[in-house]
Amino acid sequence: MADMKIVFLGTSAAIPTEKRCLSSIVVKRGGELLIFDAGEGMQKNFLQAKLGINKKMKIFITHMHIDHCLGLIGFFQTMSLLGRTKKIDIYGEPRLKEFIHENFRIINIGLAFEIVIHIIDKEGVIASEDDYQISCCKADHSIHAYSFCITEDPRPGVFNVEKASKLSIPKGDLYRSLQHGEDVLVDGKLIKSNEVVGPNRKGRKIGVSGDTRPSPELRDFFNSCDILIFESTYNHDYQTKAIETFHSTSTEAALLAKESHCSKLILTHFSSRYDDPNLLLDEARTIHRNVDLAEDMKTFYVPYTE
Ligand SMILES: [Zn+2]
Repeated sequence: MADMKIVFLGTSAAIPTEKRCLSSIVVKRGGELLIFDAGEGMQKNFLQAKLGINKKMKIFITHMHIDHCLGLIGFFQTMSLLGRTKKIDIYGEPRLKEFIHENFRIINIGLAFEIVIHIIDKEGVIASEDDYQISCCKADHSIHAYSFCITEDPRPGVFNVEKASKLSIPKGDLYRSLQHGEDVLVDGKLIKSNEVVGPNRKGRKIGVSGDTRPSPELRDFFNSCDILIFESTYNHDYQTKAIETFHSTSTEAALLAKESHCSKLILTHFSSRYDDPNLLLDEARTIHRNVDLAEDMKTFYVPYTE
């Protein structure tokens, strides 16, 4: 079991506004921070959100446009000055490595922690932990870009204490073994795990689109997300502009979320022309019943579905 929350550090496309910083999203899962994009200045909201300086951390860069990656170097420096010692794993296309190395060479930054750069050169699983995986899929943007999913492993089923007690199973280690799917012997009698433990329960799945047009590949990739965070640069009146610039409209984001059977859609990455993006929300809600708008510093908690 891991608590999970999503904190938006930046929700504006291309240029910041008075209310919105450039793209950055943090998923805090248990004691770990998973950061998607690091738009310029994201470090300020990161500190304000009190997410922790020395937490286990992975950063995923969707693409190498300035509003999605320029905040990295300052963020590293600030983490170091504030006492971070744990390594940071960072994932992105090959130019991410060049970007970091060149910046470090020119600016001559010394950090108190290690940065491990993982080059993404194919789709699929790019990071695995004990109980979840991160996978990527090519997005449809004007340059090389990726979308990401966090997919948790199924959780063990519900333990039936009443039944275990009827079967005279002593509490403690044997309960734990059964809960983890192991069969046990009680007074010489074999008790199978599935006699007292229900079927596995689904883990959570969170999708992050980065900048993209909707595509059939993403429709499959984001299938059955509990929460899909999808870019919604424009409302649908600007569809031609969205097509030209390889972005999505709120209508398109909602259609994709609906067709992918995503339980909840959160719109983000709004063009600076929208002082109030409620127009985008209203548009999306005519298609998908569970839509919300991202705002800088807004937090969404992600409970288990059962
Ligand atoms: Zn962007």
